Amino acid sequence: MEKITREIYEQIQKAHQMVLLVHTHPDGDCLGSALALARVLNKLGKKAVVVSPDAIPEYLQWMPDTDKVLIYENSRSEVDQALQKADLIFLIDHNTPKRTGEQLAEKLEKYVGKKTFILIDHHLQPDPRIDLQISDPDKASTAELVFDFLQATGLWDRYADRETATLIYTGIMTDTGSFRFGKTSAGTHHAAAELIAKGAPNEYIHVQVYDTYSYDKMQLLAHALRHMKVIPECGASYMVLDRQTLEKYHYRPGDTEGIVNYGISLKGIAFTTLITQLPDNDSIKLSFRSKGNFDVNTFARKYFNGGGHKNAAGGRSSASLADTVEKLEKAIRENCNKILANA
Ligand code: 5GP
Ligand code: MN
Repeated sequence: MEKITREIYEQIQKAHQMVLLVHTHPDGDCLGSALALARVLNKLGKKAVVVSPDAIPEYLQWMPDTDKVLIYENSRSEVDQALQKADLIFLIDHNTPKRTGEQLAEKLEKYVGKKTFILIDHHLQPDPRIDLQISDPDKASTAELVFDFLQATGLWDRYADRETATLIYTGIMTDTGSFRFGKTSAGTHHAAAELIAKGAPNEYIHVQVYDTYSYDKMQLLAHALRHMKVIPECGASYMVLDRQTLEKYHYRPGDTEGIVNYGISLKGIAFTTLITQLPDNDSIKLSFRSKGNFDVNTFARKYFNGGGHKNAAGGRSSASLADTVEKLEKAIRENCNKILANA
C-alpha cells in the first residue's frame, strides 16, 4: 500500500465522524466518488455524511443514496453541526475549499489548520494547506482514485456492494465522456470490468445519465448549436446562453451539461467556450474545452478566475454578458496562434 493511502486509512480507522464535501454544481464524478466512499465508511461503522453546496441535478437524482446528501443551501445548521463534530473533512473531486461556494468556503476556512483535511482529486494545483492528499491529475476521474483507494485498503473486498459499484461507475463514465477522453487508461477499463462484475448496471446508468433529456433541454441545446460562433482563423468557437433563453426553456440545474462539448466537435476547432448567464446568480459561468496541448486550466486562471484540467476547465465573470463576450473574444485573439497550432 502506498504511504499516503496507509496514512489516510489510519486516520479513517481512528475517526468517528466525517464530512465529505463535493463541489458546486455537483456532477456525476464528485457525487459518485463521495457517495461510494461514504457508503463504505458507513459499513465500516463510521458516521460519514456527504455535503453538497447546492442542489443535485435531476439527471443524477436516481443515483443511490442521493436522498442522504445534505444540501448546504437548505440545511445550514445541520451542515454546521456535522462540520463541528467531524474528525475528518474530505474534499472530493475539487482542489480547494474555495470550490464549495462562497459561504460554505468561508465556513471551511475556519477549520483549515485546526481539523484534519483530506483531499481526493484529479484537478491540477491542489491547495497546499490540505493535510493529506491523493491528488493525481493524470487520472481521468476522482471515482477511479476512490476505487483504487478502496481496493488498496481491502475495503472494496469487505464492503463494496452493487450500489457502491453503481456510484463509482457513474463517476468514471461521466468524467471520461463514456470512456473516450484522453486519460482513459487500461486501469480505467479494468476498474469498469470489476464494477460491472460487482453488479453495476452499465446500460441502465448510461440511459439514466444521457437519455433522459426533457424537451426543453433538447431545445436549449438546439438554440446553443444554432447560434454557435466560429472563429476559424483562430481555431476557436463559442456559444452563449443568456438569461432570457434559459428562462424561455425553463432552465433547471443540469440542463446545460454536455453542451460545451459540441463546440469542440467541429473539424479545425481546438478551443471552445460555453458562456452561461445563470438565472438567480450574479456571476456568469464559463466552461472551456480544448484539444491537444492548448491548456484551458491556464486560460481559465488567467482570464476568468477559474481552473480545472488541461482540456476541460471552468471559470466565472462578474462583468456584464456583453463585456464577458468581448473579453473572451479578446482573449481568443491573444491566444490565436497557440490554439491554431492544435486545431
Ligand atoms: P465544467 O465546464 O464541466 O463546469 O467544468 C470543467 C472542469 O473545470 C471541471 O473539472 C470543474 O471541476 C472545473 N471547474 C469548473 N468551474 C470551475 C471554477 O470556477 N473554478 C475552478 N478552479 N475549476 C472549475
Ligand atoms: Mn472529476
